[in-house]
Amino acid sequence: MPDSKQTQTTERPLEYVRGGAIHACATSRLLKTGSWRVFRPALDAEKCTRCKLCYWYCPDACIHLTEEAVEIDFDYCKGCGICAHECPTKAITMIREEG
Ligand code: SF4
Ligand code: SF4
Repeated sequence: MPDSKQTQTTERPLEYVRGGAIHACATSRLLKTGSWRVFRPALDAEKCTRCKLCYWYCPDACIHLTEEAVEIDFDYCKGCGICAHECPTKAITMIREEG
């Protein structure tokens, strides 16, 4: 049962997402975490078997599967590297952002 603070958080999530706490579901949709990424995933399409593990493991749900490809939404990718760690064919490697 949510308390009054949690209810308020759902209405104004941007004010409550400091630190590592998760106060409400789906707040990541409001925050473009890609702006502070240090590393980014680079995909080698020839190694990808479309097993979908990266899609299921990405904590920000920013990996999308189309008919032809695996696509990463870099507005929301925070560069955690979980997708690269879980990819069974090593189709994803983490590379340092430039600049
Ligand atoms: S985990 Fe690797 S092989 Fe599987 S869909 Fe993602 S990139 Fe492709
Ligand atoms: S690096 Fe992290 S946030 Fe970015 S696509 Fe991979 S799992 Fe998702």
